[in-house]
Formats: sequence, structure tokens, C-alpha cells
Amino acid sequence: MTIKKSATGVFSLLISLIVIMAIGACSPAGDSSTTSSEGQVPDADAIDLIIEGEYIVTMDEGGNVIRDGAVAVDGGLIIDIGTASEINSRYNAKGRLPGENRIVMPGLINGHSHAAMTLLRGVADDLALMDWLNNYIFPAEVEFVDAEFVRIGTELACWEMIRGGTTTFVDMYYYPDVVAQVVESCGLRAFISATVIDQRSPDAEDAADSIEKGLAFINNWKDRNNRITPIFGPHANYTLNAEQLKATRAAANDAGVPISIHMSESPFELEYSKQTFGMTSIELFESIGFLDGPTIGAHVVWPTEEEIKILADRRVGVIHNPTSNMKIASGISPVTDMLRAGVLVGLGTDGAASNNDLDMWEEMRLAALLQKVDKMDPEVMSATTVLNMATSGGSEAIGLRDKVGALEIGLRADIIQVSFDDVHFVPTYDVISHLVYVADEQDVASVTVDGKLLMREGEFLTIDTNRVRREATALAGRIQAALAERNQ
Ligand SMILES: [Zn+2]
Repeated sequence: MTIKKSATGVFSLLISLIVIMAIGACSPAGDSSTTSSEGQVPDADAIDLIIEGEYIVTMDEGGNVIRDGAVAVDGGLIIDIGTASEINSRYNAKGRLPGENRIVMPGLINGHSHAAMTLLRGVADDLALMDWLNNYIFPAEVEFVDAEFVRIGTELACWEMIRGGTTTFVDMYYYPDVVAQVVESCGLRAFISATVIDQRSPDAEDAADSIEKGLAFINNWKDRNNRITPIFGPHANYTLNAEQLKATRAAANDAGVPISIHMSESPFELEYSKQTFGMTSIELFESIGFLDGPTIGAHVVWPTEEEIKILADRRVGVIHNPTSNMKIASGISPVTDMLRAGVLVGLGTDGAASNNDLDMWEEMRLAALLQKVDKMDPEVMSATTVLNMATSGGSEAIGLRDKVGALEIGLRADIIQVSFDDVHFVPTYDVISHLVYVADEQDVASVTVDGKLLMREGEFLTIDTNRVRREATALAGRIQAALAERNQ
């Protein structure tokens, strides 16, 4: 917020008051020294925050939408939901987000990402997978991915995810300790994978080394921060053999953490699996007991009917990544068939090198459109189904539905406000339709995670965006120069 020096008298007093209100709303829970939004010293019973909206899209089991509503937040939790007049008559609050032209809904769940790859956004596009990987992505990673790269790239990703209303993401990359430190300071919620891969990677020598280092990371972060869940991220069944996959599952079960893995992503993987193991990917996972524990499977583009049954029985959380699947030409995931069979399906962006952004609104829109044109049936996937995949259904797919994914009393307060000031929301007949078919990341007005404000009216409260932009641009310049020299 900027204050004009020429402001005088009543105007400057008003501005000062607004500044105090804004600071009050951003203060950590328990800070009772600030002035309330009514301009009074709050009483000891004042709750932390009230978030108002013309529509409260709860994404609860009943699909309830409350007109002119509010959500009461205290101690990081949602403690009440109702009409704004009900909530305001019951509570005083230290902070308040006004609801005019605002939709309030649960934060979005990005079920599959490689956050730090934002630094490789647009480094090479429109290439065949192996050309893209071997001549651009892998060389850039080998030469440049270190702890500093991961710190800057993850900060850039957190900035973009906060901008777009994502409040939880599932990440798979290198230097997970660094990712966790960034997530801790930026305020988001994340599952952070220790990547397991049987090749020399930026932070490990081989599969055994990555499991060992992964365990150290998990022990370091388990139960340390309510927002951070350390997990194992075995890369895929074409970068790990059956023994290594089994060893990773055993280590994950011993540590009591879930697994996230690329699963049945491409025709290449399908062929490789048949030739190497004599069966398709999910059959292999089932046959070696790899699915004996919480599992998040990214992509799942090529499952057989039998494999879809296995996914449903094993309650594997499938993460659909429509943009990445289209851009790399991996194929069209049979999402509607999986949903019909009872598979838990969420949405993800994949890394920004194959997307090229982290906009979950775009994923929602593309998920709906892709199924419709694939099945040549516009009724096959509704806006409500897609919105559910990005919120409540997504949180169920990653095993976090008891904490987040809906606006329900007792869940953690991961809440966003979407502005419908922009022309593309006019007129508004059906708010769910607009959220899926119209909204984009620039429409998000405020983001709250665990009851703490991370963005307020487009202002970032936990990230120094100027510094991140400067550092990311400088590093990208070095990557571009190195690739140009290499590919001369
Ligand atoms: Zn991926």
C-alpha cells in the first residue's frame, strides 16, 4: 500500500486507520495489541479473522453455497460459517476481509508439481519428449540445480501459487530440506518429496543413497510444522527397478509417510514396463506390494480397466495433469472412467517446464474440456466435478481431507477470496460455472493458510517478490547463456 505525501487532514487520518486495520489483519494469531476493524480495542474474546463474501462456496459434502456469508477463523481453524450477519453478531474479530464482489472458497490443491522448475519455464518448448529432456532439461539440471537453484525456484513457485489461490501442493524435486525451508517461510501447506531415482542426481548418487538421504529429511521434518508433510517421491518405474521400488515403500511405511510417484504417464512408460517387467505399470506396483500404503499417482494416462479397479481398491490418489499431458503429448487420461469406478482423482500442474505455469484454474478448465471432446459428450464432466477435484476431492486424493479441502467447522483455515470485479464475470448467473470456465490466477484477491494471511488484495505478505524476481532473472540469464553455448 502506498500513501500519497499530499494527503492531509481527515484523509490522512483515514489512511492511517486503514493501514492499522491492514496490519491488524496480518498479525499472527494471538496478537491482541492491534486495533479491530471497528476501530475499537478488541476484547479478549476477539477471534483472529472474519472472511466475508457474497458467495461462500463451501465444497462440503452437501455442496452448500451461502449467499452474503462469512467464515470465522481462530487459532488457524475454521470455527464457524454462516451468513455475514449471523457471524458478525456472534464474534468480534481482530481482522476482517470485506466481502463485496468476493467469492470465498477453500484454497486449491495442486496434487503434483516440481516447484523449482519454474526457473526452467519456457527454456525449451514444442519439442519431442526425448529431445526436450536430453538436450535442454537434463543438461540445465545437471549444470545448474543446486540448493540455491531450488531455493529461488521454489520461492518463485510459491509466489505464483499464492497469486493463483493454491494453498496446498505436492512437490517432487531435489534438496527437499531447502523446499521445506521455503514453504515454512512463505506460509503454504505442502507434501514435500524426497526424490528417489537410480541415477546420479543433483543431491544423491543412486537409489540407495537417495533413500538414505530421504529418510534423514523425513526424520528432520516429520511432525515439526503442521503445514509441512515430508514424503517419499520415487520417480517412476523406468528410473527405479522393482527391488528399489519395494525398498522405497518399506522405508516410507517404516517412517509412516505417503509416497508420490509418476504412474502410467506415457506410451514410452507403457512399452518399457511391458518389456522390462512383463506387465503394465500399475500391475507391477500391485504385484510387488508397492501400493500397500498411502500412494499418490501422478498422471495415470494409460491404465487398463483392470488397473483402474486396482487404483480404486487400493485408494490410490490419482492426480490428473491435463496441460502437461497435452503439451508433451502423453495422451488423454480416462478421468471420467476412473471417477465412475470410484478412484480418488485430484488435479495438478506438473512442473512449469511442461505447463508452463502453475495456474490451477487453467487445469480445471482444461480437465473439463479435454474429457468432453475426448468422449464427444459435453455432459461427461461438470463444472462442479472439476471444482471438487481441485478442492475437496483433491485433498481426499492426497489423504488430507481431515484437514483441508472444504469450508467446514474444525478444518484448517485454508481459504481464498476470488474477486469477481473483472469484466469476464459479468453477468454472474452461476458462480460455480464462473470459477471453472472463467476465473484465472489474477482473479484471486486474498489467500489465507492455517488462518494466516499470505496475500491481501494482491499484496504479498510473506514473500519479497522484488528480490525473487531479481534472483530468478539473473539465474535464468546464466542458464540461457550456457544452453546457447552448448547447442551451438
Ligand atoms: Zn511430474
